[in-house]
Amino acid sequence: MPAPRTYRCEGLTLRKSTLGEADLLITFFTKEQGKVRAVAKGARRSTSKLVGHLEPLTQGRFSMSTGKSLDYINQVQIINSFSEIKSDLAGVTKGLYVAELVDGFGAEANANPALFNLAVDTLQAIQNSPESEWPLRFFEIHLLAVSGLMPELYRCVECNQDLSPGEHRFSPSLGGTLCSNCLPENTYIRPLSLPALKVLRLIHRGPIAELMPLNVDDHLAEELKSLTGGIVSYWLEREIRSKSFLDQMQRETRGQVYT
Ligand SMILES: [Zn+2]
Repeated sequence: MPAPRTYRCEGLTLRKSTLGEADLLITFFTKEQGKVRAVAKGARRSTSKLVGHLEPLTQGRFSMSTGKSLDYINQVQIINSFSEIKSDLAGVTKGLYVAELVDGFGAEANANPALFNLAVDTLQAIQNSPESEWPLRFFEIHLLAVSGLMPELYRCVECNQDLSPGEHRFSPSLGGTLCSNCLPENTYIRPLSLPALKVLRLIHRGPIAELMPLNVDDHLAEELKSLTGGIVSYWLEREIRSKSFLDQMQRETRGQVYT
């Protein structure tokens, strides 16, 4: 058996679970090699130097060593613990939604530094404005873009004609906007308002700082959320648990905030 090799990487922790009596199994997304699952030996012992360094939503530099099936985390140097997100219920719920989507869209042994940077920038935006919904809408659209799944927003995906104002619909499975003339069969097609289309284009053009001051009414906010969340869910092909929790929490509190 070859001797263990050590290496370093920069990563963002996504989730953790217990392993054996004192270990943790950590899933994190690294800049250098995509999603990694690794064992933190003895990390649940109060004497471990890893205690408090492996909570989900922690950005750090990881010192690793290779193992037979899973690698091992030896040391973590925290870059950003996003402590203000973790102390705010709205913030932490949004942050865990981001982590769950990175987990769902990120692949093992497949570096995607653009996705890593997007996740970190989004968490920073959530930390700055935990009540705002814009960081999540920005994240969802740019998550699709950096995953090679960006929906078409300017032409009809069936006939390739430019869209006329007011005459457009949307199909997640066909990959974007449809004109009013095209009626593909056996396809889920949803309405798409002109204001929602314009905001989607604005989100895609970025940067996030230009989006933050934008005010939209509740109706448009709901359309955007349902649209971007629907596209992401379509690609994940599974229910996003933290999003369900987020929806429930927002229904129980004050609704969405886009300021
Ligand atoms: Zn068409």
